[in-house]
Amino acid sequence: MKNYLQLTRHTGNTALFLAVEMSLVSTLQGRPLHIHAEGLRGTGKTTIMRSVTQILPKITRIKGCLYNCDPERPHCPQHKNMTPEEIAALGTEQIPVPFLEISHSAKIGTVAGTIDLAKLTNPSRPEAALLPGIIPQAHRGIVFVDEINRLADTSPEITDVLLDAMGTKPGRVQIEETGLPVVEVPVAVSVWAASNPDEEPGPLAEIRRQLSDRFDLVIPMGRPTTPEEVVDILTTEEAKNDRELSEQERSQLEQLRKNLENIALHSDLTMPDYLTTFLANLYINFNIESLRALEAIRQAALLHCALRKRSQVMISDIMAVLPLALYHRVSPATLTEIMNTVNNRMVGNGKEKENGKKSAQGRQLPPIFNNRKANKRQTSEDSPPERARLLRDLPENGIIRKESESF
Ligand SMILES: [Zn+2]
Repeated sequence: MKNYLQLTRHTGNTALFLAVEMSLVSTLQGRPLHIHAEGLRGTGKTTIMRSVTQILPKITRIKGCLYNCDPERPHCPQHKNMTPEEIAALGTEQIPVPFLEISHSAKIGTVAGTIDLAKLTNPSRPEAALLPGIIPQAHRGIVFVDEINRLADTSPEITDVLLDAMGTKPGRVQIEETGLPVVEVPVAVSVWAASNPDEEPGPLAEIRRQLSDRFDLVIPMGRPTTPEEVVDILTTEEAKNDRELSEQERSQLEQLRKNLENIALHSDLTMPDYLTTFLANLYINFNIESLRALEAIRQAALLHCALRKRSQVMISDIMAVLPLALYHRVSPATLTEIMNTVNNRMVGNGKEKENGKKSAQGRQLPPIFNNRKANKRQTSEDSPPERARLLRDLPENGIIRKESESF
């Protein structure tokens, strides 16, 4: 498998590295952060997302619990009513943060769960005989859905299960079986998704708007922009393909894992009042449709700050995550306007002098954001050249570039 640390970071993909690490930390803290990588085939979105399985931190659960019950806060039908003494008697175990995939052939029972008819002796308590599906089994972890636009198109009932799981934090999953009462289980699962908006059936936002909005962040994937980056990709691709990891690589991965664990355990950042007011003003002034957007910006800005091991959230943290939280929620023109407003504020009030100079010239939105409308699926044959031109024209400066510099 490809080594997470050796994957080439370039202008077009650093935002995704940032997003997966933010989501991992947030998931460990018990607050899911749903992320969706959108991009053309070959931009490496699924490779990056799947390689995170090499750096999954550990969680403690009640021994053998398929729902990954936290011994301090058991939630599953089997353990939720037990006393602390009874729980202690069962013992605990450490497992890696769950990372499960929903495939396109998955059935609703596999995703949500079914009643274990073999175990069902008392029909009035069906929850005692549940077989949890992928989502409840990924509690305190991650569920990955590749080509989510296709899944939303072909499996509306699985989409509904995802909507429930992502609707609140924590979410819930309902397990239904004909003739038996519906059983509801709480789930705290971060949903990670990938899609290619240029392939059938088109962008997720056009297939199922509601599901698209459930994602806290959408990460538009770009291509590398310098020959050096391409050379780096080509040479490390050759070096790392399908070989065992060395001792040194393992210890580097272990270090990153511990680092993420520490950040999750020790950061208790809060949003300063002036930034909350600032976000509230953005919401009103730009008529942002969804309050989820504000919540996503807030959560992601705190995580961005935590990953940088700073003790105080700044407007630059908001700046770094804002395009990802609004990409799928406002028009490209509005997004540009909002970014300019934040820029002016950063430069204008001098609160964050260290960023002021950079922001004046470097914090423009890359065309991958600005030209989103033009980049949308078209039926005419002449759309591919236009898309190719847009991607090639990614500038050397911009939001995503900023991420790579500060990493
Ligand atoms: Zn349990």
